Amino acid sequence: MINLLDFDLPGLTEHFAQMGEKPFRAKQVMRWMHQGATADFDAMSDLAKSLRAKLKEQCTVQPPVLMREQASADGTKKWLLDVGTGNGIETVFIPEATRGTLCVSSQIGCALECTFCSTGRQGFNRNLSVAEIIGQLWWANKALGVTPKNERVISNVVLMGMGEPLANFDNVVTALNIMLDDHGYGLSRRRVTVSTSGMVPQMDRLAEQCPTALAVSLHAPNDAIRDKIVPLNQKYPLKELMAACRRYLNHAPRDFITFEYVMLAGVNDAPQHARELVQLVQDVPCKFNLIPFNPFPNSGFARSGSRAVQAFRDVLQEAGQVVTVRKTRGDDIDAACGQLAGQVQDKTKRSETWQTISTQGLTS
Ligand code: SAH
Ligand code: SF4
Repeated sequence: MINLLDFDLPGLTEHFAQMGEKPFRAKQVMRWMHQGATADFDAMSDLAKSLRAKLKEQCTVQPPVLMREQASADGTKKWLLDVGTGNGIETVFIPEATRGTLCVSSQIGCALECTFCSTGRQGFNRNLSVAEIIGQLWWANKALGVTPKNERVISNVVLMGMGEPLANFDNVVTALNIMLDDHGYGLSRRRVTVSTSGMVPQMDRLAEQCPTALAVSLHAPNDAIRDKIVPLNQKYPLKELMAACRRYLNHAPRDFITFEYVMLAGVNDAPQHARELVQLVQDVPCKFNLIPFNPFPNSGFARSGSRAVQAFRDVLQEAGQVVTVRKTRGDDIDAACGQLAGQVQDKTKRSETWQTISTQGLTS
């Protein structure tokens, strides 16, 4: 059986051509699946009966299985989806006054091992398929629907859930195409943000193939600190990363890069670090998003105090930078940044190593 959620419009059109069907049929089915959140071919009432019968025989519309929905006191919602063989992924919806943002996962776990990230600590199982990525929007859209004014509740998507989106490049780009397509979710490029820890070659490919808003997880003002907390920096150091950000802006739908910066007490949060940061980004139009560290068991890090965060922000602002401090949302249901854990059957040995370390930490 072919899962039609795996196709963007060009892919679906090609598949339909192979079935002897016209391109406009692909558009119709696309709208039923994504705008109507339907998986039932019989409900697709404007399709010829013969086509419906053929689709039922050969195809499915199969999002991951919904295991649990949780709601936070602040309105944040989180869904746990079963992606087979004991693995689960999480998706979070964050309602705000003027927008509703869905935070989407791209991999089961993550192979990149940033030291302050609980997803990174859990190890890695595999990339998500297109259907598993877009299936997160499918479920959230089904659950949330439209506002009384007939506007979509999900106005923005950020690929900031579990995993490194650019390490699952092809599937992520196909899923992005569906998010952007008028027959899919119809989101504008400015309202879809890919967040990366800095995979330089893939940033260039994204600029060419599907430029969306871009967030870069910077987290450090120099290579010495970044090498330690974002190990990928050893491969693509800051000079290369800054150059890639400048190149990306030639194609981007927005005229700035968002730099995410997790504030870790005593690690990267001194005023001197802020001054260094200003120098680092001097040629890159950007905005800063300071994220209070969200703790998890045995992380070995602590959240910066609010005074340290303010002082850091002041240095950046006085140098003319635009800075927001991210509010922590949904932490009562473990839905805040870096807390998404899902269920990862680790294929690396990393989670075991950490368990050993933390048990040793408890007994010694
Ligand atoms: N892999 C991508 C996207 C997923 S992580 C990336 O790293 O950009 C989304 C954001 O949450 C990243 O900026 C990440 O660094 C941040 N994050 C990870 N762990 C965190 C934690 N414990 N507290 C706060 N933010 C965290
Ligand atoms: Fe992976 Fe991003 Fe977590 Fe780093 S911060 S381990 S890249 S999910």
